[in-house]
Amino acid sequence: MTFEKQSINILYEALQRLEEGFKDLPDHGGDALDTEGLRSVILEVAEKMHENYPYHHPLYAGQMLKPPHPVARLAYMLAMWLNPNNHALDGGRASSAMEKEAVAEIAKMFGWETHLGHLCGGGTIANMEALWVSGRLNQGKKIVASEQAHYTHNRLSGVLQLPFQSIACDSRAKMDLNALEDVLKKEDVGTVVVTMGTTATGSVDPLLQILDLKDKYGFRIHADAAYGGYFTLAGNLDTEARNAFHRIDEVDSIVVDPHKHGLQPYGCGCVLFRDPSVGKFYKHDSPYTYFSSAELHLGEITLECSRPGASAVALWATMRMLPLERGGEFAQGLENARKSALRLFEKIRSDSRFLTAFPPELDIIIWAPLGGKASEISSRSKEIFEAAAEHNLHLAVANFPGKMLEQIWDIDWDEEQVSCLRSCMMKPGHLQWGENIWQILDCVMKDGSYS
Ligand SMILES: *Cc1c(COP(=O)(O)O)cnc(C)c1O
Repeated sequence: MTFEKQSINILYEALQRLEEGFKDLPDHGGDALDTEGLRSVILEVAEKMHENYPYHHPLYAGQMLKPPHPVARLAYMLAMWLNPNNHALDGGRASSAMEKEAVAEIAKMFGWETHLGHLCGGGTIANMEALWVSGRLNQGKKIVASEQAHYTHNRLSGVLQLPFQSIACDSRAKMDLNALEDVLKKEDVGTVVVTMGTTATGSVDPLLQILDLKDKYGFRIHADAAYGGYFTLAGNLDTEARNAFHRIDEVDSIVVDPHKHGLQPYGCGCVLFRDPSVGKFYKHDSPYTYFSSAELHLGEITLECSRPGASAVALWATMRMLPLERGGEFAQGLENARKSALRLFEKIRSDSRFLTAFPPELDIIIWAPLGGKASEISSRSKEIFEAAAEHNLHLAVANFPGKMLEQIWDIDWDEEQVSCLRSCMMKPGHLQWGENIWQILDCVMKDGSYS
């Protein structure tokens, strides 16, 4: 394979344009460069990085890894010549404005005309801020999330010293409504975390019914849409998922990760609150960052202080090129991801060598090689994962509780967990490469005689 390198020329041109804006300043001679030293270290780095999987190749169909769009990569690099800090306007005037615009567009994508929100390091920090605000509003009350919610909610509740309880899932990895209602009856629940696309399987929790329960019991809803959020733009979701995304504007807070499906480099998460007045919890009086103006400094509404302005610049540039529009090119990318997942899933489902659980709601599929016992399925899954990697096809292994799958898989549950194969079909090339992926998988199965 070859890497895209043409865009480097555009970066050079853009750097000259950026430089023009500062041409009235006297030269400061501070940029003397040891080019030989630089060259030798950077070439060594290139060698070192051969150790990575080829994440941007379509044959990497394992974990959630999607290459940033070239426009994001270029905008990020361009910003590096200034290295703005979006903590305060003094450090990042232009990039703070770009962040506010980009975040407002994301809020609008979810149906919010007003909001409070900002970018941050990723889904973990974003969820922490949302849980922290929930904890401030509902002091002493429980946070609950499904067993398939990201493990970060349990851990962050610990950090925030908020009581946490997990709720059982049904056989499609969605929060079980009866289990939730049982807990709501017995416990003082302050916040229900609704996962809009679980990390393991892309399952969307039943938001409509949870909104009904909210009317009955009263609690905050936090939507963890770190992975799935952008799928609200996709026109090819099944009814259940579509209906859930349709009412996401009724939740209290939302987390979405531009660094997952938003074509951004890592270090770009986003948290949004429906009620801007929660900004009061962030209030502080910093003696040293807020000299320049009365306008909002993003540091007044974020927990992190210094943050990369470059992330905001990259996101803004990407959204400028690929606006968040239903039916637009960006939305089509998500639709194609789902289409790729559905196609591969259909092939696997109709093949007697495999076990499947449920069709993908977004673009993640899970399956397993046939076996009579959970332990046997687990060890075969791992063997296939290894064998596929030797054929350059990179899958992932995911563990699921037997409790979740025992209603659909009639096997001997000799172990409480089962390891399955998992594939995130999230890359632009996956639609074209689906057939190749299937051929390699088929070949691996024949070689290993898994029948
Ligand atoms: C990835 C993910 C997180 C954690 O986000 P990071 O960006 O990895 O910190 C939280 N929740 C869900 C549903 C996720 O998919």
